[in-house]
Amino acid sequence: MPKAIYAGSFDPFTMGHYDILLRASKLFEEVIIAIGTNTSKKTLFSPEEKKEMIQEVIENSPMSNVRVILHTDGLTVDLAKKEEANVMLRGIRTVEDMEYEMAIASMNKTQAPEIETVFLMASEKYRFLSSSLLKEIAQFKGSIDGMVPESIGRRMIEKYKN
Ligand code: ADP
Repeated sequence: MPKAIYAGSFDPFTMGHYDILLRASKLFEEVIIAIGTNTSKKTLFSPEEKKEMIQEVIENSPMSNVRVILHTDGLTVDLAKKEEANVMLRGIRTVEDMEYEMAIASMNKTQAPEIETVFLMASEKYRFLSSSLLKEIAQFKGSIDGMVPESIGRRMIEKYKN
């Protein structure tokens, strides 16, 4: 059975990410979440915080074939090769996502033709959920219930208090 890398910034990991992960965990032997660390963007959580929070969510879930790692440098396809993963997993919400994801998938193909990108469509209820919108809501004390795993929602609220 194939093994997948689910790479992203996960700042933070939302229920949209969780939904894709849960569905993918039934399709692949193993799913490796690779948290990007080389972003120039200022993030709400550090890579280590993200890792710890996602691990906690997974421990309290029915999933037993998910691992979380930090993607510190280099191309994601090189990380996939190192981890012996043959699939890059991505979620698609909208046509805009599709355009962007197709460009990445196509460039990845030039670097590692043996690795396939697999897209899962976002579930209807998470179609308009993004980490950035979630942060905007949390920052202005709006309700983020049901949009993010509870433990992560608590950590977001704490961050914005400080
Ligand atoms: P990146 O900065 O790499 O886009 P993200 O953390 O925003 O990282 O997203 C990681 C992956 O999860 C991407 O493939 C993205 O399209 C997907 N994703 C993000 N939010 C959702 C959602 N609500 N439903 C399904 N997939 C999602």
